[in-house]
Amino acid sequence: MRTEFLPFSRPSITEEDIAAVADVLRSGWITTGARAAEFENHFRDYVDSRGALAITSATAGMHLALKTMGIGPGDEVVTPSLTWVSTVNLIVLAGATPVFADIDRDTLMVDAETIRPCLTDKTRLIIPVHFAGAPADMNSIRALAQAHDIGIIEDAAHAAGTYYDGEPVGHTGTAIFSFHPIKNITTCEGGMFCSDDAELLERVRRLKFHGLGVDAYDRQTQGRSPQAQVLEPGYKYNLPDTLAVLGIRQLQRLDEFNRKRTQLALYYQEQLSEIEEIIPLREPSYSMRHTWHLFIVRVDMDRAGLSRDDFMSELKKRNIGTGLHFRAVHQQKYYQDHMAMWSGKLPNTEWNSDRICSLPLFPDMEPEDIDDVVESIKEVLSEKGI
Ligand SMILES: *Cc1c(COP(=O)(O)O)cnc(C)c1O
Repeated sequence: MRTEFLPFSRPSITEEDIAAVADVLRSGWITTGARAAEFENHFRDYVDSRGALAITSATAGMHLALKTMGIGPGDEVVTPSLTWVSTVNLIVLAGATPVFADIDRDTLMVDAETIRPCLTDKTRLIIPVHFAGAPADMNSIRALAQAHDIGIIEDAAHAAGTYYDGEPVGHTGTAIFSFHPIKNITTCEGGMFCSDDAELLERVRRLKFHGLGVDAYDRQTQGRSPQAQVLEPGYKYNLPDTLAVLGIRQLQRLDEFNRKRTQLALYYQEQLSEIEEIIPLREPSYSMRHTWHLFIVRVDMDRAGLSRDDFMSELKKRNIGTGLHFRAVHQQKYYQDHMAMWSGKLPNTEWNSDRICSLPLFPDMEPEDIDDVVESIKEVLSEKGI
């Protein structure tokens, strides 16, 4: 057994990263400034989008998107229930109604087939999630949205560096990325709003900083724009330079991180292939580049004779950390109390919500760590019922 705990995720931060943050702290300008602008430019170039706006989190970006699109009471927004809670919380907080599309049982993603039955004349927006580092099948989702004159905001929290049909996620349409510590690159907390819609970008740029027509740091006036006026009431979601500098450095290593994640994921697939009780996800068959944000497996509870929760706690006893991405939103307390009608309506979502588990995967892991995980899984499965 491992003597040292293996977390399911750990950011890769170097001494140079720490020194770069310290330099910003010493510089006298520690909030949004030149480094945030530089990070925005580099990210925009990386995903080849029209514009990129650095924000304090992906959740903040989704809030701004909903606000900009005027989503409110009477509107319906289609999204999966197997996602992080932030999107659904924001839809509810905006006074709109979330409508849950079921997912493909083995990729965990919504598609045009599962979205279509959710559409009504109140549907204003679709929020697909690119799951675990693979992209959703956007061509058919875009065609469906266009035919019904509905907007799309892509949840790209898992998809920094992911390609779909020959293009980086973020190139076409509007996509929101997250730099939370478990994501493929991190700024501690942070996110990026990318869009090919110049008008939308301008509104979000304004709303993310009090509704003023300027950034916290105006490029011409070095941050001194006392004459700036509120054009509309806005929020306070600007990313500070202390965090942006980390983003600049992490972005330079993103391809290397993703290559490492891919190698580790392939090694997992090979090592797990003979364990019948463990079912990995299926990779989509359309053209794409996977970035392996997560390595998710499903525990076949009948075969294994133990629940997913017991599986996770048995691994923890053996110093192996795991994650749960995600427990279905409609099965969480508030949503069960207020939207009970969804129970039983989303079979693939519920099946996975009970069985999924994310195994350790991060760029600084070694194949030997995977050997430890696989050995522990075999041990847990062979000892069950004892
Ligand atoms: C992490 C995550 C978010 C939220 O990102 P934050 O930057 O923490 O706000 C949204 N959606 C999904 C699918 C996520 O995994």
